[in-house]
Amino acid sequence: MKPDLIVLRHGELTLKGKNRHRFEKTVYDQIRKAMKPFAKLTFLREFGRVYMELNGEPYNEIEHRLKKIIGLTSFSPVHTAPLELEAIQQRALDAMANLEHTPSSFKVSVRRVNKQFPHSSQEMNKLVGGYVLRAYPGLKVDVNHPEVELRVELREEKALVFSRVIQGVGGFPLGTNGKAMLMLSGGIDSPAAGYLALRQGLKVEAVHFHSYPYTSERSQQKVKDLVSKLAEYAGDIKLHLVPFTSLQTRVHQSYKKNLLITVLRRAMFRITERLAEENGASAIVTGESLGQVASQTLGSMNVIGRAVDLPVLQPLICMEKQEIIRIAEMIDTYDISIQPHEDCCTLFLPPSPSTNPNLRVVEAIEQSMDWLDEEIDRAVAGAETIWIQAGEQTPFSSFF
Ligand code: ATP
Ligand code: MG
Repeated sequence: MKPDLIVLRHGELTLKGKNRHRFEKTVYDQIRKAMKPFAKLTFLREFGRVYMELNGEPYNEIEHRLKKIIGLTSFSPVHTAPLELEAIQQRALDAMANLEHTPSSFKVSVRRVNKQFPHSSQEMNKLVGGYVLRAYPGLKVDVNHPEVELRVELREEKALVFSRVIQGVGGFPLGTNGKAMLMLSGGIDSPAAGYLALRQGLKVEAVHFHSYPYTSERSQQKVKDLVSKLAEYAGDIKLHLVPFTSLQTRVHQSYKKNLLITVLRRAMFRITERLAEENGASAIVTGESLGQVASQTLGSMNVIGRAVDLPVLQPLICMEKQEIIRIAEMIDTYDISIQPHEDCCTLFLPPSPSTNPNLRVVEAIEQSMDWLDEEIDRAVAGAETIWIQAGEQTPFSSFF
């Protein structure tokens, strides 16, 4: 028999009091939202847990979606049984068969909530354990370090039997730590940074700068595809597409030397900050990793960050490229990111970008561009905003 119920755990948040309540409600709302396509599911909420009855809905598809719910710590597929010994023993075998591989050791843990049940927890441990051992001759009982814990919960109306614990994303439920603007390029890093921000309970809106027509429509499509992957963790995500061509060309016309990237990146940050104000976000998230490129030295980041007042969060700052790639693979953005694209920043690269820009010099260059504020206003006003839903990928990406 297949699992007919799933127990979801979100109660292991190390939080107390009012916040805990709010956090649990947020996770529950996210679960309900993610499960909307499965109309026959029924839900029961209990402290720190949700019991979800499948009523014939497909387990595998549901498992796939549950793995993307932020704040969900773990979940277990459950085989339910009426409160009768033989039925429970049978479901215990189903639960063992449902494991990814046969373990070498196990133990049974019985929780008897229903005190009317004729056997004590101790007796049930033996009755269920013995039954499983007879079916799996090589299996051993290990009460201290079992490979698998076969759990039986004797509840008021039925017994729940389960053996698998599947890890969820964990983290802080979506949006419970506020909102941030995610600066999203088409690269590998920024989607990974976006995922970590989401997992830390930030609601994110993505901001992408494009230099159309120097950068193609395809590179914008790529960004939409990336946002759609992130949206699997958030339901939907707002994407701001900012036209950067005019500002970039004008800056490049009047200054081409080693501080060009610094000036352009400061402009990007200022535009992002403006969009943050308009959309009620209180931080900026980027995919920088210390030392990766010239603009990601402490000196550069310092001068770039000073262009704005909002805190700049860099979830990847101390990660190695391999760790970042692992995250990108896990969230399924890597294959999209490695497709060739033009990034607006690489268009007008100076021959040797400064790794240690001087703030005063940079400010002086900016002051000489008396049209810069106007260009920033224009970019903000020209930003196109679209909502991207989870899984909303276009066949376009296969053309790369
Ligand atoms: P990524 O892999 O995220 O592109 P990167 O290693 O290529 O990062 P940079 O190009 O220096 O690094 O960009 C650093 C960060 O600046 C990016 O992680 C992203 O947050 C932001 N960024 C870069 N280009 C853009 C863009 N076109 N639109 C929005 N944000 C951008
Ligand atoms: Mg990049």
